[in-house]
Amino acid sequence: MSHDGGRTETGVDGIMAEGRASGADERSVVEQNVAAAALVADMVETTLGPHGRDKIVYRKPEKDEEGLDDYFQVTNSGAYILKKVPFEAPAASMVARVAAAQDDRHGDGTTTATVYAGRILEAAAGLIEQGVHPRTVVDGIDEAVPLIEDAIDATAVPVDDDRDWIADIVRTTLGGTVTEPLADRLAAWIRDAAADGSLDPETVRTESLRAGSLSDSEFVDGLVLKKSFAGNYQPSSLTDATIAMTTQAVTAAQQVGGRVESDSGADAGTSQSLSVSAADAADLQRFTEYERGVIEERVRPLVDAGVDVLLAANRVDEDTVAHLDRHGIAVVRNADEARLRALAAATDGTLLPHLGAFESDDAGAVGAVARREYPEIKQEAIFLRDLPDDLVSVLVHGSTWMAGWEAKRNVNAAVAAVASALETGRIVPGGGATEMEIARHLRDVALGIGGRESMVVDAIADAVEAVPRLLARNAGMDPTDAILDLRTAHNHGEADAAVLGVERELGSALDAGVVEPAAFKRGSVYTAAGAATTVLRIDDVITGIDVTVSESP
Ligand code: ADP
Ligand code: MG
Repeated sequence: MSHDGGRTETGVDGIMAEGRASGADERSVVEQNVAAAALVADMVETTLGPHGRDKIVYRKPEKDEEGLDDYFQVTNSGAYILKKVPFEAPAASMVARVAAAQDDRHGDGTTTATVYAGRILEAAAGLIEQGVHPRTVVDGIDEAVPLIEDAIDATAVPVDDDRDWIADIVRTTLGGTVTEPLADRLAAWIRDAAADGSLDPETVRTESLRAGSLSDSEFVDGLVLKKSFAGNYQPSSLTDATIAMTTQAVTAAQQVGGRVESDSGADAGTSQSLSVSAADAADLQRFTEYERGVIEERVRPLVDAGVDVLLAANRVDEDTVAHLDRHGIAVVRNADEARLRALAAATDGTLLPHLGAFESDDAGAVGAVARREYPEIKQEAIFLRDLPDDLVSVLVHGSTWMAGWEAKRNVNAAVAAVASALETGRIVPGGGATEMEIARHLRDVALGIGGRESMVVDAIADAVEAVPRLLARNAGMDPTDAILDLRTAHNHGEADAAVLGVERELGSALDAGVVEPAAFKRGSVYTAAGAATTVLRIDDVITGIDVTVSESP
């Protein structure tokens, strides 16, 4: 088969039982895929930046929602839209999925990555139409990626102590999604958490409560668990508390280490189930006593170590809770495992795989435990404050599930952005400035390459300029004028000339404090280039295979 020619359309029938190649020409397959993928970018592009507009997304309510929201959501989060919209075209869902990966990795830059991917693909389609082979386009993209990295590196500036970069990064990440005072408070909280010059995102937890409004959000020096105590012992506050933490379900049965297992009530269905058939009442009586002794024996080390609270990431059966109650040990069950892991790390304790392994030095120390009630939403929360090591929480209040979801997402993104900037020590100007530098560099290099690949590199330069163009358009400025003025400024060495969202004018991103972590920009580029080349490598679509998932009768 020739490298450049059309594909052969023979040889499929008779090889596959069900599947059928579309039989379409490779160019039209690429065209269709590109068009589908570009639609994804179209869908989210108006949400980009501080003046991004909102969308209505119809959806099913989430599991943890309290059921009051409507079946639609108003959002300007590109990540949310891409997650919720069921794209039918495979190429479209591929781009959406790759963008979601960007969101998972960095918690931000999703819309940007999608816009890059969509515009790069559109540029590619234009070139293919002019007769450039898709393979050449893929090669051109692969060639452009390191050039883009060079441009990002050259545009990056160090995070120095001259000014409050942390607040700038936080504000740029939030991009106008929260009110100014809340953004300032959040910046101050994150600055405190990063006081020693570094920030581990694991040590900043976010929790949302559907109570009050966003401005009631609070910073907690410790951990918040949206949980109640399980038993009758319901202390409202404890000081200098000792805690024990485990991931396994704590049941009377498991407490005997699998030697004997009760088949009664709450314990049924545990993985290590062995059943004891009680032949008669006396046996049952003896068994119950035995079980009680076993629970007592297992609880004893906790009592001896002076444990005040047991936190389990799983079930704790009623009998065990009752025993713990009697010893004045409060119980939190079904707590989030990741949170307990963070808590163990911050309290010098151990998150035990099972309670049988407990020794006194596995206990953690908590300065203050407090239980708080939110009667309006029939919810309680347990606050664990004053921990020996770093762990803080942002408790986001919001009147709707979605408000909480978006705020939590934004806080996580801001924390991740600051952590990334501190880790690499590099930030880049936002507002499209870095994209303008990337485009300038690509065009410079393309001049030297010549040939078809230079056409690809040039086209990618136009594609990345989509970001400043959209920021200008979304801010109500003339996008063409903005791009022309920005090109001139960048050609004159103003590497941070940008669209300033708040002022709706062009200016210095660094002076205005519009900055992003350099690593995020790189991430968006990788993500987009990966998505674009994946789509371009597809030369046929095999149809006719039954993909219906059979349901169990
Ligand atoms: P993403 O999903 O890609 O994070 P956003 O809607 O958060 O999309 O928009 C991010 C873009 O908005 C970045 O290019 C960033 O530099 C830009 N941006 C954020 N704040 C401002 C601002 N005040 N002025 C100009 N651009 C801004
Ligand atoms: Mg963002």
